[in-house]
Amino acid sequence: MVGSTNVDVTATVPRLPGRGETLLGTSLVSSPGGKGANQALAASRAGASVRFVGAVGDDDAAPTALCHLRADGVDLSTVLTREGVPTGTALIWVDDSAENSIVVVPGANGSLTAADVDTVADGGGLEGVVVLQGEIPAEAVTRAAELAPGRVVMNLAPVIEVPTRVLTAADPLIVNEHEGAEALRLLGGSPEGLGEEATVAALLAAGVPNVVMTLGARGAFVADASGVRTVPAARVRAVDTTGAGDAFVGAVAARLAAGAGLDEATSYAARFAAGAVLAAGTQSSYPQRGATLPELR
Ligand code: ADP
Repeated sequence: MVGSTNVDVTATVPRLPGRGETLLGTSLVSSPGGKGANQALAASRAGASVRFVGAVGDDDAAPTALCHLRADGVDLSTVLTREGVPTGTALIWVDDSAENSIVVVPGANGSLTAADVDTVADGGGLEGVVVLQGEIPAEAVTRAAELAPGRVVMNLAPVIEVPTRVLTAADPLIVNEHEGAEALRLLGGSPEGLGEEATVAALLAAGVPNVVMTLGARGAFVADASGVRTVPAARVRAVDTTGAGDAFVGAVAARLAAGAGLDEATSYAARFAAGAVLAAGTQSSYPQRGATLPELR
């Protein structure tokens, strides 16, 4: 797993502050986040042996950012510590009607370079299924895709400008509806007027070997040379869907690493992600290893 790790600092406020305004908040919670770290934890909980490649600052936030990964036994020997740089932080305000405003400071995540990835790979730190997202610089993502010795799972979230060859090496490319359209644009296609399934088909036609498109409570599409198939979602009473996409990606990667095919891996991931929407929070909502997961419809 090569990616971002953050601390999410969430304050609850009666309403979102206006320009120049100071408000009193009613609670404050710091919790670990970042797509890379979320997916690493999900993969570990889904049974994989996981190493995390990323960067934190030399500040008090770093141990918080990594606390769940450490507790879960994820290998953190390839996490770099940057002096004088903050650990990635998301500052979140949530009001009484659950509206939010978010400021993300990438901090150490934004400092990851292609040379860092070279160093990790030279030390034998890039092996097995390599999972990538868009919350670290494109040069680091691109180099990791180039140096990955085997399968690359590419979650293009958020969408960043990576070379076409990174997208066509994705096995699978995992996107939601919006990211799928943007990925198609990066590949030179035009998503205008295309529905979700047609976008998936166009991504295949543009050279991506396998595509998974997540559709929230509607489930997901899985697509490869043999066509586009639907994976249902589990019918659950969702409490908080934050981090469901990351739970899904981590679980797909874990099952692929264990030798499952793409259909089996995505069905498992839909169950795992459904388990992650049953409780509030992101990493803290991920099912524990061996937990009973909701069944698909
Ligand atoms: P993202 O947040 O990245 O857009 P999604 O919202 O598509 O991700 O969620 C990823 C996956 O999590 C879905 O494909 C689905 O399997 C599962 N999921 C998300 N929300 C729900 C829900 N309300 N009920 C059941 N499963 C869900």
